[in-house]
Amino acid sequence: MKASQFFISTLKEAPADAEVVSHKLMMRAGMIKRLGAGIYNYMPMGLRVIRKVEAIIREEMNRAGAVELLMPVVQPAELWQETGRFQAYGPELMRVKDRHERDFVIQPTSEEVITDIARQELRSYKQLPKNFFHIQTKFRDERRPRFGVMRGREFTMKDAYSFDRDKEGALKSYQVMYDAYCRIFDRFGLQYRAVAADTGAIGGDASHEFQVIADTGEDALVYCPTSDYAANIELAEALSLLPQRAAPTQPMAKTPTPGKSTCADVAALLGLPLQQTVKSLVLATDEKNEAGDIVKSTVWLLLVRGDHDLNEVKAGKVAGLKAGWRFATVAEIEEHFGCKPGYLGPIKTIKPVQVIADRTVANMADFVCGANEADFHITGVNWGRDLPEPDVVADIRNVVVGDPSPDGKGSLAIQRGIEVGHVFYLGTKYSKAMSANYLDETGKPQPMEMGCYGIGVTRILGAAIEQNHDERGIIWPAAIAPFATVLCPIGYDRSAEVKAAADQLHDELLAAGVDVLLDDRGERPGAMFADWELVGVPLRVVISDRALKEGLLEVQGRRDAEASKVPVAEVVAQVK
Ligand code: ATP
Ligand code: MG
Ligand code: MG
Ligand code: MG
Repeated sequence: MKASQFFISTLKEAPADAEVVSHKLMMRAGMIKRLGAGIYNYMPMGLRVIRKVEAIIREEMNRAGAVELLMPVVQPAELWQETGRFQAYGPELMRVKDRHERDFVIQPTSEEVITDIARQELRSYKQLPKNFFHIQTKFRDERRPRFGVMRGREFTMKDAYSFDRDKEGALKSYQVMYDAYCRIFDRFGLQYRAVAADTGAIGGDASHEFQVIADTGEDALVYCPTSDYAANIELAEALSLLPQRAAPTQPMAKTPTPGKSTCADVAALLGLPLQQTVKSLVLATDEKNEAGDIVKSTVWLLLVRGDHDLNEVKAGKVAGLKAGWRFATVAEIEEHFGCKPGYLGPIKTIKPVQVIADRTVANMADFVCGANEADFHITGVNWGRDLPEPDVVADIRNVVVGDPSPDGKGSLAIQRGIEVGHVFYLGTKYSKAMSANYLDETGKPQPMEMGCYGIGVTRILGAAIEQNHDERGIIWPAAIAPFATVLCPIGYDRSAEVKAAADQLHDELLAAGVDVLLDDRGERPGAMFADWELVGVPLRVVISDRALKEGLLEVQGRRDAEASKVPVAEVVAQVK
């Protein structure tokens, strides 16, 4: 491929709405182009990466015995009504009507459609097990699309669905997918962790998220460096796997100094070690009317690690607040906790200074606590553990680094991660709702046992960049780089020797199966190198008159500090 034929569009500056490094770099490298909130054009450079990601996934899914098909993006609502998800899915489900006023959905996932296929096609035990997958556009009307392709509204997912005779078979299929996912993420060259995740209403222990490790990740992972224990933080807490910490029963012994309180003060008041603790605090400010009544409260969720001056927190200036850690709005916190909308909104009762650190806080009046100064209060919250009712919020999120791990084989550590894949044992949830039965040996109908397995194809790009970049740009792992090697001739338009050598090398590398791009644009070396460092091509070969005189070319890996000089005749072998 020659650069003049291809499409290259790099930017010096990232747009202001790009918060995380991967979003910034993908925009600057011309990989994606925003069309609307959470909706992107995948530009030629970005699409090459997507296609490589898809190819690896497809290969490993085929190897694992899954069969590819393709289900429609627009799906009749009837199927979604059968499972009750047309209503239950909530606002993330994009519902549309056709000209006849018939309801449709734009698929966020495909359990209904695949189960419909299975109930028609898989009639006998002899046809099981079966695993179908597709790589298809998804639409989820995310409340807060952000971080570019990491949380888009339209995105690409690989989703697979297994059908088995019984639970034992389904768990085998699950394991096959789990292993395939490990191979896929190994091949991507990403540092990841498979963590146990909550199975919610289904129960059982067969759900794992594949998390790419990155400080900017939205998820928190609890793991033990010396054993296999790893869970997402919600599960770790929900199952009370974490050591129970005695909750302070007394009201706070002292009041933080108004305006000057730091999180260390709060941690001290709560009796928790600050530096070793990852916890969340909810910070709130209130707007009052002239009579002094609170008319509106704004609540932020802040993950705290280190000391912060509350005045700075209020001003949104928190030194050391990592990218990706942010304040949340009341509505977001309500959603996060599964509260009804408006539940946290009008906070009416301000109690005297008191931090509730009880594990089960029965109602919101108790939740509002810890007035830190007249109109600024702090309260600790926790989600997921020991909750008697779904819409009740409890105490301090309480995972302490260094505590013994639940398997007793070491101590706990915490990392942040980006969920790039999710495998899930479904049981008969969908097959029973949709009467997807097969006939067993005795001719008796039995519900099929299912599993579902997703990979966020487009999210992988963001995750890979979060993990692999430097101040100059992206550093793609070789397996998913848009081009494996870029040829940078210096003076392609001026020097016949340079042009001839570059063209020949280009043709030889192509013939050897190398995904090579020749930069024939005649750019100055500085600008040319900067472009390819930004785009993140793993290997660069510089062709210059000076080195050619000695029969050499300069080969440099994206992470290498210096180029090495390689005899022209050996370059193909070295690059291949
Ligand atoms: P998240 O917790 O990030 O919202 P999810 O648990 O809702 O993701 P799943 O339903 O498990 O997502 O979907 C399978 C995979 O699809 C996820 O593991 C993730 O990689 C990807 N994915 C989900 N939502 C998005 C999105 N909005 N943009 C890009 N990829 C996504
Ligand atoms: Mg989601
Ligand atoms: Mg998730
Ligand atoms: Mg998930």
